[in-house]
Amino acid sequence: MNISEAGGTAPVKVEERLFQNRYMVDAGRPHIRIRPHETPSKALLAMTRLCPAGCYSVNDRGQVEAVVDGCVECGTCRVVTAQTGELEWNYPRGGFGVLFKFG
Ligand code: SF4
Repeated sequence: MNISEAGGTAPVKVEERLFQNRYMVDAGRPHIRIRPHETPSKALLAMTRLCPAGCYSVNDRGQVEAVVDGCVECGTCRVVTAQTGELEWNYPRGGFGVLFKFG
């Protein structure tokens, strides 16, 4: 018996849940910045796989870039790179950033 046979609901993917949120972009003022680097640390590189909102990517020069539109402010990147100091991390200004949809 699977969950739907038991009368439950089918599991919802994380991506589908994240799509329910809305985001107010603070144009030109990203709340997370990557400090200039030639080669990213393993910690920073890991963010291309760890960020739940997919904000990090590697460019054609092998450097990590971030587009923080859609950031859910989970703080994972802040914690993971805390020892390397590669990020400048702040919460968005009031009125900007993620608007969570609950329920
Ligand atoms: S705070 Fe979370 S969602 Fe936002 S960029 Fe960092 S890892 Fe991604």
